[in-house]
Amino acid sequence: MAEEHVKVLVIGSGPAGYTAAIYASRAGLNPVLYTGGEPGGQLTTTNDVENYPGYPEGINGPQMMVDFQKQAERFGTDIRYGMITKVDFSGYPHKVWVDNGDEITADAVIISTGASAKYLGLPSEQAFANKGVSACAVCDGFFYKGTDVAVVGAGDTAAEEATYLANLCPKVYMIVRRDEMRASKIMQQRVMNTPNIEILWNTETDEVLGDDSGVTGVRVVNNQRGEKKELDIKGFFVAIGHKPNTDIFKGWLDMDETGYLKVKPGTSHTNVEGVFATGDAADKVYRQAVTAAGTGCMGALDAERFLVEKEFEATGEIA
Ligand code: NDP
Repeated sequence: MAEEHVKVLVIGSGPAGYTAAIYASRAGLNPVLYTGGEPGGQLTTTNDVENYPGYPEGINGPQMMVDFQKQAERFGTDIRYGMITKVDFSGYPHKVWVDNGDEITADAVIISTGASAKYLGLPSEQAFANKGVSACAVCDGFFYKGTDVAVVGAGDTAAEEATYLANLCPKVYMIVRRDEMRASKIMQQRVMNTPNIEILWNTETDEVLGDDSGVTGVRVVNNQRGEKKELDIKGFFVAIGHKPNTDIFKGWLDMDETGYLKVKPGTSHTNVEGVFATGDAADKVYRQAVTAAGTGCMGALDAERFLVEKEFEATGEIA
């Protein structure tokens, strides 16, 4: 167990975290960045990113995150593979604990912990996690090549996952709980134009079915007529939205009822001095790579200004 003091600590390695690190490194703040459990964040579970400006032909998500990382490293960010498991923002400097037992104090903390996929909450879904149940078609779709699968959800993620899987699987069921989809018109059109996707409207998941080999099917129920039926599938993909990764900040930072961190409007300042919130952890509206990167930049600039003011308060001089 080591104890260490750092000037700027960045927690998280998605577009927000790496952008904060790039700006903080270039400002000479020697940031240390902890990647969290999913280095590169959510973009490592997507395929083509076509809406990030500067890539007219689109870019592969995991590759994009490797590039973000390289850019942060180029300016000297100290990148570490580990999770921050606990924080104490009661005093100053701020204190955090790493999963290997290390304790770190930091003058400024930039939170970029992102969000994680939600699950339906059925015990059978949990029982078959990684044995047929997945929240990432791009990560796991390949394992179900040539078999029938189902996707739950009706947002852009579900639509994207269904069309992705339709290239690998003979049949893709889309389980949609209402009589319309939330996904953007263009994504809906893509789904409708894919002949091997069958949309089950007004339908919910009753039970994920399986045996020792993993998932073998799913029982669904029509929520208008109450009819149940079983679909023979091997892969069950859950695409029903995300939850911000902010549990460790409960009790320290202001958050809304769903756990999104609150910031002072137009800034990345949280309610605790010297703690800044960026990316999807503080954004339930936009949740885009480019907006995450933008707020990551804000986090680094806000941290830099905060540290200059702190230095001035302490010494009467600007470093
Ligand atoms: P959303 O919150 O947009 O959609 C979640 C979907 O899951 C909704 O259709 C919702 O149904 C359904 N759902 C939620 N809970 C349940 C449940 N318990 N049972 C069944 N269905 C459920 O999440 P997404 O992850 O799809 O998208 C998040 C954001 O990211 C959006 O802003 C989206 O536009 C964006 N995005 C953009 C992409 C792109 O541009 N390429 C790709 C992926 C996402 P209901 O509609 O009935 O509430």
